[in-house]
Amino acid sequence: MAADGAARMNWVYAFGGGQADGNASMKDLLGGKGANLAEMSALGLPVPPGFTITTEACTHFYANERSYPPSLAEEVTQAMARLEQLIGKRFGDADNPLLVSVRSGARTSMPGMMDTVLNLGLNDRTVDGLAKLSGDRRFALDSYRRFIQMYSNVVLGLDHHMFEEILDDHKDRLAVTLDTALDADAWTAVVADYKQAVETERGAPFPQDPHEQLWGAIDAVFSSWMNERAKFYRRMHDIPEAWGTAVNVQSMVFGNMGETSATGVAFTRNPSTGEARLYGEFLVNAQGEDVVAGIRTPQALTKAGREEMGEKAASMEEAMPEVFGQFRGVVEQLERHYRDMQDIEFTVEQGALYMLQTRSGKRTAKAALKIAVEMAAEGVISQNEAVARIDPASLDQLLHPTIDPDAPREIIATGLPASPGAATGKAVFDSGEAERLGQAGEAVILVREETSPEDIHGMHAARGIVTARGGMTSHAAVVARGMGRPCVSGVGELLIDAKGRTFSARGRTIRAGDIITIDGSSGEILAGAVQMVEPELTGDFATLMGWADQVRRLRVRANAETALAARTARRFGAEGIGLVRTEHMFFDAERIAAVREMILADDEAGRGPPLARMLEMQRSDLVEIFGIMHGLPVTIRLLDPPLHEFLPHSREDVEAVAKATGLDAGKLMQRARDLAETNPMLGHRGCRLGVSYPEIYEMQVRAIIEAALAVTASGAPAPIVEIMHPLIAKGEEMRFLRILTDRVARHVMEEQGREVAYSVGAMVELPRAALCAGELAETAEFFSFGTNDLTQTTFGISRDDSARFLGAYMDKAIFEKDPFVSLDIDGVGELIRIAAERGRAVRPDIKLGICGEHGGDPASIAFCEEVGLDYVSCSPYRTPIARLAAAQAALARRT
Ligand code: PEP
Ligand code: MG
Repeated sequence: MAADGAARMNWVYAFGGGQADGNASMKDLLGGKGANLAEMSALGLPVPPGFTITTEACTHFYANERSYPPSLAEEVTQAMARLEQLIGKRFGDADNPLLVSVRSGARTSMPGMMDTVLNLGLNDRTVDGLAKLSGDRRFALDSYRRFIQMYSNVVLGLDHHMFEEILDDHKDRLAVTLDTALDADAWTAVVADYKQAVETERGAPFPQDPHEQLWGAIDAVFSSWMNERAKFYRRMHDIPEAWGTAVNVQSMVFGNMGETSATGVAFTRNPSTGEARLYGEFLVNAQGEDVVAGIRTPQALTKAGREEMGEKAASMEEAMPEVFGQFRGVVEQLERHYRDMQDIEFTVEQGALYMLQTRSGKRTAKAALKIAVEMAAEGVISQNEAVARIDPASLDQLLHPTIDPDAPREIIATGLPASPGAATGKAVFDSGEAERLGQAGEAVILVREETSPEDIHGMHAARGIVTARGGMTSHAAVVARGMGRPCVSGVGELLIDAKGRTFSARGRTIRAGDIITIDGSSGEILAGAVQMVEPELTGDFATLMGWADQVRRLRVRANAETALAARTARRFGAEGIGLVRTEHMFFDAERIAAVREMILADDEAGRGPPLARMLEMQRSDLVEIFGIMHGLPVTIRLLDPPLHEFLPHSREDVEAVAKATGLDAGKLMQRARDLAETNPMLGHRGCRLGVSYPEIYEMQVRAIIEAALAVTASGAPAPIVEIMHPLIAKGEEMRFLRILTDRVARHVMEEQGREVAYSVGAMVELPRAALCAGELAETAEFFSFGTNDLTQTTFGISRDDSARFLGAYMDKAIFEKDPFVSLDIDGVGELIRIAAERGRAVRPDIKLGICGEHGGDPASIAFCEEVGLDYVSCSPYRTPIARLAAAQAALARRT
């Protein structure tokens, strides 16, 4: 049944008056905002009535050269007519005008990325009607000039600076500094100049017809789905382009109708810490955008919040106790109803409360954990729901160092702790520069008066963000939390000279390029680089990870080849090592000499002595790693890179190496030339080295078995040893290497008169290996999918050069995600599926794992769960992310 009993429409869903066509489960169709407005309306909450044009209309718009479905115009007309009836005002009526807001609203929120138009329906006639209705001519004219400015910017594409200049001229003329000092006559003059400027710029007057205004705004909102910042945001958050946005048309309520009006935002729990207490900010006599724009620093919602921040200005609880009481009741109801922390926007118009939005609030990882664990403890959600709710990627925020509490702190200034974590970098004052330096690999802290959606690139490139203005819900704060960047906002004492590229506070000046540190958990800006400490993985984190471990099936290992990495891996809960890249053990300055000597040797006999030295190193490293892993599996991959990677290349390097090692410079140079390959990634590398120089692999197998025997002899638990051959393509290759491996292992065990178990397997990182996995499985006891190379060889895209052109592919939506980051399920995934199937057909108990970068990517892990791999292996810092993603993948398969 449609909201008012009228026939259900195809593209438009109405809400208001205690009813709604849609509900909260319809986010795909109505967008998050539209679905929740419908839900709140149906709950009987005070929601200004309106309607939502569906995301399907947006999809249609883009699929049909930016044109609308034929019936849309009629449906919008009907919906407007119903809205007029419900509100008792008419669109375009000179005496009793209905005004609307037109806002975007995708499935997931994309704060500030798309367009909004407020006060729509105002024109030279209706502005008088609004003046009469509100009894406030100044307010009506102020609203009209805001509308002209916003509409001209968003819909007509005119530069907003033009309007700011006009306004400044008027203020100069009247010798005032604040907008609030302008009276109705002054605004009348400003409006006249605005309209004149629009006419001059566009060659046509500012549109007076409300219907033309409405369609202009609808068009602009749909078009803003494809603006650059929205595209960038989608890429960053993996939001598919195909989703489209909905458009919400809603009757206006005014928070700027005097001192009994206000607008604000609230979180039902603290989005930064997760503390279970109403949290938020509001502004008296203001419109919604004023709060998020960070232009005025808002006041606290609650008395406790005000006291905590040491603020003087009255909280909403104190200034408007009655409406605050009603508001508290509504937000409690919303949290109970949605069973999650809500992020709420509201307006008070002359003492009457209106709810403008509710959604699950964005939160820091720390807050997310606390909220999930506490809600499970409160019995609101189950433990499994708690596990399912945490974004695995967000855990990254918790796994990085924070400022050492004992380190000396030289405080430059203090602001609001807007997004936790610490970061050190060079101060920069411009988003473009932040992006340039960030891409060049420099750590930067972006320092701005305030941020706007245009700064998104710079914020992304920066390690941390500082703003002089704006509260905890300002653009900077919200976006930084979403990105997991530390942020200190509202540093009122900061004097920023963006042109001069300096900021100063407390008598000290910091210039662009000076190193500063910010602590987003305390709100401090500190001089220089400050000592950091490793994170504590206890409390809510440990509790939730424990719940995750109970439900996951996939084992999680780490890629590690140093003692430090192995220890980190274990601390983060790795259940073994899935990839020891043995070549990394030789890149060390002192060790590489032995490798070079081996490469320079003329024959096998010459390779003997350096190989013996390499054996020592390899064995002692493995003894240490086996010890740390304490009986867990360790997969050791034999030498993989082309040998030229070990040699110096430039003349200076060659000479320096020759001098340091006593090796012959001419010979070194010649050998580097001999080993140079046109296409080294497809050249003499991987197990091909083992085939052409068996003595190298023989040395490595000996080192592995000797190390395992040594560890067992010391009384420590025997390691589960897995010897892995890289870049296998053929069954015969695998058979040759298997025989080599077994022969050496047997020999070593016979020498020592003791046994140790080991298995031998293949890295599947070539399409042929995947297709002919049955051949490999005859001699390989396990497969580990090297999806870095498998992606490279499947696409024929060099993993080292892809960054140069993948950007263009992403811009053109040919790739939604970088296939080197998130597994290409359709192609590379299909090869994995085939390999798993064909491998199992020959060897049913074959052990299967993945050790490419994808092993730490949640979407790829979900695929690994689906294919039934035994484990994923990723970098040590990603281990908790993989544990959680594996748990979520297992839960998803249960439902
Ligand atoms: C791989 O190719 O996925 C892999 C793990 O090996 P590497 O990155 O060392 O080539
Ligand atoms: Mg590889």
